[in-house]
Amino acid sequence: MARTSTKKLKHERCWTLLGRRQGPFWHACRRRPTQGGPASVAFDPAWVIEREESRGDVIGFYHTHPGGMPGPSQRDHRTMRAWVGSFGKPLLCLIEADGVVNAYLYVDDEVDEGIALTACELLPRGIVVAYDSREANSQEANDDQQVPA
Ligand SMILES: [Zn+2]
Repeated sequence: MARTSTKKLKHERCWTLLGRRQGPFWHACRRRPTQGGPASVAFDPAWVIEREESRGDVIGFYHTHPGGMPGPSQRDHRTMRAWVGSFGKPLLCLIEADGVVNAYLYVDDEVDEGIALTACELLPRGIVVAYDSREANSQEANDDQQVPA
């Protein structure tokens, strides 16, 4: 059976996330959009490294999965581990699939897979907020310790 040529070719799109972490919240904006093939993304590593060295505000990457897979691929794991090892700090991997954004946190280059964060929302104008409830819980524990007995 012949394949129809009407199927729209979909490509992954990728942005660099610039922002900061504030307790359990990650605030970022998407910058520097790039487009890759159906299952890969063309990064601009020179720009990312230059940005991190000059401003130190690269907190991760945002990309789409046109195929709809909600979680990171093996390639995503490898890519994120390489960036985390290179920058020496945790980085976010945000994946948009079927209109939903999921957030994964890569803590170091030894961890095989990212940690799924509690919530993530894409707001207008490319603003992204992610929430890490593990961080909130550890802060509450610290607060409890500081209360005088
Ligand atoms: Zn991916």
